[in-house]
Parts: sequence; C-alpha cells; structure tokens
Amino acid sequence: MTNPLYDTLLGHRAKSAAPLLHLTDGRTLSYADMAGMAARFAGLLAAQGLAKGDRLAMQCPKSPEAFALYLACLQSGVIFLPLNTAYTPDEIAYFVGDATPGIVVADPASEAALAPICTDAGATLLTLDADGGGSFAEAAADVPPRTEVTVCGTDDLACFLYTSGTTGRSKGAMLTQGNLLSNAEVLTETWRFTEDDVLLHALPIFHAHGLFVACNVTLVAGGSMIWLPGFSVEAVLDALPRATAMMGVPTFYTRLLDAPGFTREVAGHMRLFTSGSAPLLAETHERFSARTGHAILERYGMTETGMNTSNPYDGDRRAGTVGFPLTGTELRIIDEKTGEEVPRGETGMIEVRGPNVFKGYWQMPEKTAEELREDGFFITGDLGRIDADGYVTIVGREKDLIISGGYNIYPKEVEQLLDEQPGIVESAVIGAPHPDFGEGVVAVLVAAADPAPDLETIRAEVALKLANYKRPKQYVTVAELPRNTMGKVQKNVLRDTYADLFAPQGQTD
Ligand code: ATP
Ligand code: MG
Repeated sequence: MTNPLYDTLLGHRAKSAAPLLHLTDGRTLSYADMAGMAARFAGLLAAQGLAKGDRLAMQCPKSPEAFALYLACLQSGVIFLPLNTAYTPDEIAYFVGDATPGIVVADPASEAALAPICTDAGATLLTLDADGGGSFAEAAADVPPRTEVTVCGTDDLACFLYTSGTTGRSKGAMLTQGNLLSNAEVLTETWRFTEDDVLLHALPIFHAHGLFVACNVTLVAGGSMIWLPGFSVEAVLDALPRATAMMGVPTFYTRLLDAPGFTREVAGHMRLFTSGSAPLLAETHERFSARTGHAILERYGMTETGMNTSNPYDGDRRAGTVGFPLTGTELRIIDEKTGEEVPRGETGMIEVRGPNVFKGYWQMPEKTAEELREDGFFITGDLGRIDADGYVTIVGREKDLIISGGYNIYPKEVEQLLDEQPGIVESAVIGAPHPDFGEGVVAVLVAAADPAPDLETIRAEVALKLANYKRPKQYVTVAELPRNTMGKVQKNVLRDTYADLFAPQGQTD
C-alpha cells in the first residue's frame, strides 16, 4: 500500500457510493463524495507548498469539510494538528508557535485575532466556517484536485494531538500512521463494527475520542455516521432511532438520563453505547441499564496511546472498571518506589506498551524520556489496579493523589462516598497545602436545591465510613465544577482556588 492509513480508511472506497455522513439538513455524503472533497483540499495543500512532514493546524467548527481536511492531510502525508475550538487566541499562539504549521485553518470569527499570530509564526491563515464556506474552500475551488496519494509508511507521523492540559500545559503528542491504524483496526474488531453500523457522532473532532476512535473506526468498518454539529439532548433523541451505536463521554449520558424522553423505546434497538475520556460513575452505569436495558461499555485511553483497554463486547461490562487491555496492548501496574510490578489487586502506576503508543512529545525530548521508557512502556500518569479476573480499574491520576500526614488518599474513594449522599449532585476532592499535614483534604461539593445537603449528617456518614486521615477537613460548596470540553474536572483549577484554605491566619497573600 502506498499510504496504509489513508488507503485503509478511505482510499480503497474512494469510488464507493456507500453513505459515510448523514447530515442534519437531510443530505448524505458518500465515501466518494468525501474522497472527492479530500482530493480538492489536498490540491490546495500542494498548491500552497505543503508536503509530507509539514504541519497544518485546524481550529474550526465541526463540519464535513473539517473532516475532509483531516482526510486530505492523510492523503498528502501532511501532519494534521486539530485544535480545541474553545482555545483562546493566546492559547492558539502557543500551539502555532510550538508546532510551526505552514497553514492554519480557522473559523472566520477568529480571523482578526489569529492574523497577527500567524504572521509572526510565518503561517498562512485561511478560514472555514460551520457551513464549509470561507477562504479555504474558495481557494480549493481554484486549483485542480490532487489525485495522487503520498507514499507513507506506518512509522511516518500522521497527527500532532495536544493533550487536554488537565494536569498542566498541553503537550503535542506525535502520533504515527501505525498508531492510528492499529488502534482503529483493533477497536473495529473488539466492538464488532461493520458496514451496517450507523454511529451517532456528537463528539468534537479535535480530540482523539471524536476523531480517531469514532471516525477512524467507522471508516475502517465501512459504516456511516449521523454527523451532529455538537451534543444536544434534542438532537441525540431525534437521531437515535436511525443509529446503531453511540460513543460518548459521561456527561452525554447523565444529560440523556435527565431527559424524560430518553426511554427504552428510543434507545433499546441500539447495538452499543461506549463511554470514555473521563470516569463513568457506577450510578450512571446502573441508571442507564435500568432505563434502556443497555450496559454502557466503558473504555480507557489517552492522547498519547489512543485506546488501551475496553470492557468486553460479549462478556460482563463491569461498572467502575475499564475492562481488559486491547489485543496487542500490554498493560502493567508498577510500584513507583521499587519499579517492580505490584501483586494483583494492588494499586500502582499504569504503564502501557503496544503499537498504539505514540512516538514522543514534539520538541520535548526530556519530557518524552521521563514518560516513555526505553523498553517501550509509556508511563501514563494514571493510578490503577487489575483485579483477580483481569479487569482494570482507574483509581485516579497520580497528580491528584493527596498525601496527608504521610498517608496516600485516593480522591475517587472519597468522591464516591460523597456522591452517594442525599443533596450532593457531585463532588471533587483535592489536597490543599496544610501547615501540619503537608496537604489537607478538601471536598468541593455541588449541592442540589432539593433536598439541600446537610453537612452535619454528611460529616457523620464520612466519619463512619472513612479512616480519619481520609476525611475532608473542609467542605466548600460551588455552583458547578470547572470542566474542560471533554467533561473532565480540572482539579488544577480547584487546587489554585483553594491553595490558601489552610494557610495560617494573616499569611493568606
Ligand atoms: P494532560 O495530559 O495534558 O494533563 P489529559 O491527560 O486529560 O491532559 P487526555 O489525553 O485527553 O488528556 O486524557 C487522558 C486521560 O483521561 C487519561 O490519562 C485518564 O486520566 C482519563 N481517562 C480517560 N478515559 C478514562 C476512563 N474511562 N476512566 C477514567 N479516566 C479516564
Ligand atoms: Mg495526560
């Protein structure tokens, strides 16, 4: 194959009239339509002088054209760099300066703000709006489509994907063609995707989940997608009868469960619901199966590795776990002090190795060396354990681990107990600097209006269930928890907010 990733995803169906995207305006775009669009865009990339190994950054609303731009980059061997639509111009300046793309394709609304940034970085700025209009599409119409496919190997870079920045500054993960291909193929098989599948796609496409998992799996299988511009309960309820599978983040599912219209009649025919990017509460899992008869299949992955584990398609999908390592991916749990594997059931650092593991962080050789071992294992930064049956449970992030008075406290354990208490919608447990204990446990609560939580009762319950050192020393209530676009709670924001909570009087500034 000239270009294994492009050929597998699209090339061999480039003339197929089979449907690929079902749009909300009633139109359907076939594989051939998308391949044609990608070829036109590839023509423009070539006309602009972009060749194999050059970069193109995209910060655009989700549209078929934005998706075709990704496919055009794959066809051309151009490294695709999708950027979160929520990023501010300041943040974009960092990514553009870091990755030095030859072209930046942006929403026309941000053109004025991004123009000086692109000029500084020597990048050409073109625009693409939600309807596929803008200077990019206009320029593409003026050049001949590119029919050739650039020769690439599985070791060539396909994408730079910046991590979500949940624990600090985003890092540019360099993903190869082989990384994306191996992951798409194993997931297609694990989740039994076929050309009969119609995936309800409500995720953004600037992230591994929406682009590599959802789109690539559909393409490998030869299926189609109901292409929603974003998630809304109404749009999902409307689309569900025509879908066979849906991939989501936990907040999609909690919001659907809040809707009375989300019933077994609407969802019962579905073949599969998957969840990832953030932990799915056991309670959500249970409510979902009571309502629809479906056990959500939870899986675990990250920007640097794509997907690592999945609950079984056929067997028991266990709430609170992320299932087993995918075929070809090795997963081990390491005691960071000794560097040895821990006994089954014990908690340690999750490390993974396999064809899915990235090549390193762009221009961060030291960071890469810290996290990618010479034997090929990637140190994920997540703490977890493997139970007797082989199911993996994510216990939390190492950076969120609280050490108070010399004891390790896993926030998730405390959060799970708090979330069960009447009047608590959700909670986040963090450590704040404490003069005596190093860190003190702080519970940040989102309270329900009715019943309102009774803190005294909650304290009593916590005292009954948790050892003294694990109990929150302070409870604070907030209207909502800070989250990023994938629904992850930003604990670093909370840690900054409550950094002075235990500071001795008079020394708070
Ligand atoms: P950064 O690395 O910049 O701090 P990030 O780790 O949030 O950001 P991503 O690569 O988008 O960036 O997210 C991967 C992380 O998401 C995993 O390391 C894990 O902590 C979390 N995650 C993903 N799926 C699950 C899951 N099913 N259960 C619990 N956590 C999950
Ligand atoms: Mg990370």
